[in-house]
Amino acid sequence: MAEKIQMTTPLVEMDGDEMTRIIWKMIKDILINPYIDLKTDYYDLGLVHRNETNDQVTIDSANATKKYGVAVKCATITPNAQRVEEYNLKEMWKSPNGTIRAILDGTVFRKPILVKGIVPYIPTWTKPITIARHAYGDIYKNTELKVPQGSKAELVVTDKDGKETRALIHDFKNSDGIIQGVHNLDNSISSFARACFNYALDAKEDLWFAAKDTISKTYDHRFKDIFAEIYENEYKDKFSAAGIEYFYTLIDDVIARVVRSEGGFIWACKNYDGDVMSDMLATAFGSLGLMTSVLVSPDGVYEYEAAHGTVTRHYYNYLKGEKTSTNPIATIFAWSGALRKRGELDNIPALIDYADKLEKASIQTMEEGVMDKNLAAMSKLENKRPVDTETFLTEINNRLAVLMG
Ligand code: NAP
Ligand code: MG
Repeated sequence: MAEKIQMTTPLVEMDGDEMTRIIWKMIKDILINPYIDLKTDYYDLGLVHRNETNDQVTIDSANATKKYGVAVKCATITPNAQRVEEYNLKEMWKSPNGTIRAILDGTVFRKPILVKGIVPYIPTWTKPITIARHAYGDIYKNTELKVPQGSKAELVVTDKDGKETRALIHDFKNSDGIIQGVHNLDNSISSFARACFNYALDAKEDLWFAAKDTISKTYDHRFKDIFAEIYENEYKDKFSAAGIEYFYTLIDDVIARVVRSEGGFIWACKNYDGDVMSDMLATAFGSLGLMTSVLVSPDGVYEYEAAHGTVTRHYYNYLKGEKTSTNPIATIFAWSGALRKRGELDNIPALIDYADKLEKASIQTMEEGVMDKNLAAMSKLENKRPVDTETFLTEINNRLAVLMG
């Protein structure tokens, strides 16, 4: 066999939990280590070790990502009451993804992998649609009150000199009711916009953004204006050089355009729109096992992962000694995405070439009918062969070995 590919800068590796932790090791053993002299800065984000370190390991891994610029993350358990008991936790530790996102200040981009045989519910979608969700503010950081009849509700802003500005929300003369206060920050919206523009340039795809500025003339309009300003001042020339477009439209109009489109663009969404629409897109494109995810920070730091969780049900079967049929593809693409980015940043063409071939071999395997049970149930291919996780990975490697010569 040829010599292994050498890396110069380490990749930040965030290990995780349950079935995806098992798959993580298999991917490294079967698909990566035979070809690459892998250099990683390793952090064990498995729940046991997060608990041992009082979650410090999560913070350390995010800071390492800032330092080195690229990370690959395995799915992790976000503890709830049941997990506190199951793992005898000192505390109900916060979501690692939330912690990492808060430190890196990023935007999450989700993109489906398209393969022959898995037909989207909208059959004209022949190219992937990437969703970029703004992950700060709006109803996710709201304040709500019930309002009894006879009350008057107002917005009050007190400036730094103590001067008040008031606006009537509603005079509840005739009925009980409800009110809600939401906010966002110019800083955060600007970071979001820059992350979207940078990602679009990277992917060489058009960027669409939509809000409801005709109804929300100050709040949503601010989003529209910030995007427009940053585009004009910083990105317009770069976009025209790359042959791509930015355009803004109303959220209702964008839905119609998305449904009628063939895909192949990036759709920037406000927080709530992104929450709802990313679940819609994942379902419409077919499978969680084929949905990739990358967190991009405004200063160009990348963290790659699968969009799905730790696949708990499969893990319990695995613990009973059963062979599982779990789809490793989104996790493989997290690795290929991170290795390709490392290759680009460090100028290592062999690493980029390996990443391309790993993805090609993965897709070829599924298109030749070899896949996990869940995907096989959905696939329209005639010669399907549902296999266990390890066989799936071995089949990918058989094809990768050919591509790598
Ligand atoms: P999940 O792990 O994504 O699994 C939900 C179901 O989707 C699975 O039971 C399985 O269906 C199917 N599925 C998902 N990924 C699959 C794959 N790669 N191959 C085959 N089938 C797949 O979501 P969950 O059960 O809601 O959450 C489990 C744990 O993951 C939780 O502790 C949660 O906190 C964590 N989580 C972590 C992240 C993250 O780290 N980014 C994201 C989401 C959830 P069947 O059972 O029908 O086969
Ligand atoms: Mg959602």
